[in-house]
Amino acid sequence: MRIDLHTHTVASDGTDTPAELVAAAVAAGLDVLAITDHDTTRGWAEALDARPAGLTIVPGAEFSCVYYDPTGRRVSLHLLGYLFDPDDPALRAERSRLRESRLVRAEEIVRRLAADDFEITWEQVGALADGATVGRPHIARALVAAGVVPDVSAAFSELLSSRGGYYVRKADTDVFDSIGLITAAGGLPVFAHPIARRRGPVVGDEVVAAMAAAGLVGLEVNHPDHDADDREHAAGLARDLGLIGTGSSDYHGTNKTTRLAACTTDPEAYERLLALPAARAPVGP
Ligand SMILES: [Zn+2]
Ligand SMILES: [Zn+2]
Repeated sequence: MRIDLHTHTVASDGTDTPAELVAAAVAAGLDVLAITDHDTTRGWAEALDARPAGLTIVPGAEFSCVYYDPTGRRVSLHLLGYLFDPDDPALRAERSRLRESRLVRAEEIVRRLAADDFEITWEQVGALADGATVGRPHIARALVAAGVVPDVSAAFSELLSSRGGYYVRKADTDVFDSIGLITAAGGLPVFAHPIARRRGPVVGDEVVAAMAAAGLVGLEVNHPDHDADDREHAAGLARDLGLIGTGSSDYHGTNKTTRLAACTTDPEAYERLLALPAARAPVGP
């Protein structure tokens, strides 16, 4: 069984439509695919409609969270939530608060760039998002189209990085609140890429332990941003804390170079995940 539990579509910052993602999963030889767009369940229906008979789909989402350490240092974290009730009122309210703040944030970034005479407009960026929540990848593509930078990764490294002058911070959910929200909605919270240092500061093992005590059920061990040492460390931590170790590609279509199924979840770990009580079941054979 080949299982990939973390992927993105055009519903957030991927480039495949949910139907294209499902087709790509079959082409990659996957038996189980989780669809986990950032802070939205918008892609679920299309993915389920397009599901071929042999594929199992695990509906989920990747929730943007934040942790403040005792010194006030801010660490941004991602939680995968699987099999939760998408209509849970508390979760719904938090998601719409985040979407609203994302939009305000993206508008502010575009406003600052335009003020410095980069020739992009909010209308252009919105058109590139094509109905999805506007984010930095869309702003990056507008900058490429305007000839400001040669490609999307240059846009990120030169203009849109968190160290640059055009960066506007996101209003994310406290990670412990998020674990509570996902759990209360009948979902299974798993800490995504817990030690991916390339993305910025990461939390220490003691924070992961506190998250486990708060109801976290799993840790993403095999992830393209984890090297061999990171994976070994995460696997040991999962074992010590009684967490399920998962593996996933974090596929984004052509927005990132990682292939679908580049990292996968052990079938035994997947069985342990499914044995936990959840609001819904995976959809599949
Ligand atoms: Zn992530
Ligand atoms: Zn992701």
